[in-house]
Amino acid sequence: MSHNEMDNLRQQLDEVNMDLLELVNRRAMLVQEIGKIKHKQSMKRFDPVRERDMLNKITEKNDGPFEKSTIEHIFKEIFKASLELQEDDHRKALLVSRKKKPNDTIINIKGEQIGNGKLNYVIGPCAVESYEQVAQVAEAIKHKGLKLLRGGAFKPRTSPYDFQGLGLEGLKILKRVADEYDLAVVSEIVNPAHIEEAIDYIDVIQIGARNMQNFELLKAAGDINKPVLLKRGLSATIDEFINAAEYIISRGNGNIILCERGIRTYEKATRNTLDISAVPILKQETHLPVMVDVTHSTGRRDLLLPTAKAALAIGADGIMAEVHPDPAVALSDSAQQMDIPMFDNFMNELAKVNRY
Ligand code: PEP
Ligand code: MN
Repeated sequence: MSHNEMDNLRQQLDEVNMDLLELVNRRAMLVQEIGKIKHKQSMKRFDPVRERDMLNKITEKNDGPFEKSTIEHIFKEIFKASLELQEDDHRKALLVSRKKKPNDTIINIKGEQIGNGKLNYVIGPCAVESYEQVAQVAEAIKHKGLKLLRGGAFKPRTSPYDFQGLGLEGLKILKRVADEYDLAVVSEIVNPAHIEEAIDYIDVIQIGARNMQNFELLKAAGDINKPVLLKRGLSATIDEFINAAEYIISRGNGNIILCERGIRTYEKATRNTLDISAVPILKQETHLPVMVDVTHSTGRRDLLLPTAKAALAIGADGIMAEVHPDPAVALSDSAQQMDIPMFDNFMNELAKVNRY
């Protein structure tokens, strides 16, 4: 074979490649159009009957040199890629996505801006136990110039025999302390029916890890005009987490803070495994502020400061940590809460590396 002949064939091959490229993309654009119609009509994207029909038509026409099975394989790959393209379109359309809204969502909580580039802190006891207990922590928070006070009134506990929280009484304590110290309250709600009642007492509704896919609760939180702090589920993928937030925003409430709080893995050295890379992924994929809960992710006091530094370095908008005046006697999470001197030290150390 002469060089000329080879060059000529190669040139033809290049041309065929370009034709294929054009055709594959033309096909993709048609699939996208079909996808839009299907989306409008709430039709399923994948239609196996139609796919089989297309494959039959193609293989019937095939007279080599490829085997029928090879042709099927190649076309199935093209079909699959087009279907994924439709799914990307769907992702593009999510209301929480950055594609939908390129600018960061900034949430105002009693004058405190969340998501504006400054690091925020959500600090307080695991559970509200008494007025004195919450007030002591509030005093320490105030002293550090912080604004967001957390405390669980409704506690979703693994065991039904563990302390379940003070309920409405706990919310009243939080509200009283917040008013006295001019703080904003973040507290978990576990039952959609409690939301209306809780609105008067709290500034941010927390939806806990165990309820991340409690769709009725998500919808109820989406129907009101209060910021929501949504925690990642114990075994939730980032995609599931994003879709949980979508449930809230789709009802009209876009004031959502995402909170990475560790996920369940085989690792036993920590209570959960802090998925720190979820922070930049969530920041890229969504326009929502992202916080890191260093307490529940690690379950270890000695890891609170290093993980908080990591959260800060990786671009988190806030850090959540539990503080109790006397963790040894705490009614929940006693192994992982900081006492007040430890909290002071925690804040002082973070101030040395803080970005504001
Ligand atoms: C909490 O923050 O009080 C809590 C129970 O955390 P999680 O839902 O992340 O377990
Ligand atoms: Mn806790």
